[in-house]
Amino acid sequence: MGGERETKLLEVRVFDDAITKSVYAKQTAEAPQSGQSNCHHCAIGNDANKTKIWTLAVMNADHVEAWSKGRATSLSNCEMLCKTHNRATGNK
Ligand SMILES: [Zn+2]
Repeated sequence: MGGERETKLLEVRVFDDAITKSVYAKQTAEAPQSGQSNCHHCAIGNDANKTKIWTLAVMNADHVEAWSKGRATSLSNCEMLCKTHNRATGNK
C-alpha cells in the first residue's frame, strides 16, 4: 500500500487548483504593468492577443520545464497559458 502512494506522488502531472489560481493571479496582476497579455506566449506575439487579458476559465496551467523531463509539478514550475498556446506546447 505504501508503494502505491509513492507512485501517485511521482506521477502528479496536473497542477491543483491552489497553484493554478495563485499563478493566474500573479500573471494577471503583472500583465497590465507591462501592457502585455497575461499569457506569456501571447505577450511575445505580434497579433491582437498581445495585450489580451484572458480569464482563468480559458487558460490552462503548463510546466515551465517539461514534466516529461522529470521537472516538478510545483508552484515555481507553473505558468498559465491561454488554451491555444497550451495546446501548442504539446506533450510537456
Ligand atoms: Zn497565448
